[in-house]
Amino acid sequence: MNYRHAFHAGNFADLVKHAALLQVLARLAGQPLSVIDTHAGRGLYDLAGAEARKSGEAEAGVVRLMAAADAPAEFAPLAAAARKLNGGGPVRRYPGSPWLIAEALRPGDSYLACELRPEEHQALSERMKGKRGVRTLCADGYDLAVAQTPSSGRALVLIDPPFERSDDYARIVETLAGLRGRNRAATALVWLPLKDLETFDGFLRDLEDAVEAPFLVAETRMRPLTDPLKMNGCALVLLGAPADMAPPLQAICGWTARTLGENGTAKVYAV
Ligand code: SAM
Repeated sequence: MNYRHAFHAGNFADLVKHAALLQVLARLAGQPLSVIDTHAGRGLYDLAGAEARKSGEAEAGVVRLMAAADAPAEFAPLAAAARKLNGGGPVRRYPGSPWLIAEALRPGDSYLACELRPEEHQALSERMKGKRGVRTLCADGYDLAVAQTPSSGRALVLIDPPFERSDDYARIVETLAGLRGRNRAATALVWLPLKDLETFDGFLRDLEDAVEAPFLVAETRMRPLTDPLKMNGCALVLLGAPADMAPPLQAICGWTARTLGENGTAKVYAV
């Protein structure tokens, strides 16, 4: 396991994922909610640290978002979270999914954050200490996701792997099929890289076969997909999507592709 999210925190893909996550959480509010984050990371990222400075990805992502005058309203909750975390000053810290989810919890909600890497989990558990309704586990999130999802009521499973292993796609399909069998009311939000279309289309076909339910796909193509060795964009897949998610996803992905990409495009569609 070599992946370190600190190099990528606050990049275009985090903006898309986290803005969409906050839109989903807002729509699931109103009844008790269980959230399971299968790949949680460390919770909070230091953009002044060596990793973020070396990659420059946050400069090209959250720093540009915070300076933009034309970002759509769907980015407002994420921008507000970043502003709050940085006391209104320059963005030196960026919130990961655990931070955003823990801040959005209401009384009666619960959140389980799984992180496999011991040092990342240590940082995560320190960040989450004392937060109401939050548990962290140093564990494989795929192994726990289905069993930890309540069999009825509102649930959200966030799946955001590093895609270092070739079996990530198969494990996502397996997890979503298990989730669908366990709780039909559950929502899942999955983040995937877009490198070449063959891999992504193959994943969608496998998912369609395994999960007999419609899902929503949001593609953010930062550049034409001509070099399969590059991360040319990212995709979100939503199972059990709340009603009316397509317009906010189009706004989020469209702005990101147009503003932060090179001849970028975005599309949202149901499968
Ligand atoms: N979801 C986080 C966020 O939005 O802030 C970022 C997560 S990062 C893309 C992926 C994380 O998954 C890494 O911290 C990595 O150590 C961890 N990881 C890798 N394999 C895992 C597994 N099978 N179960 C749980 N965590 C895993």
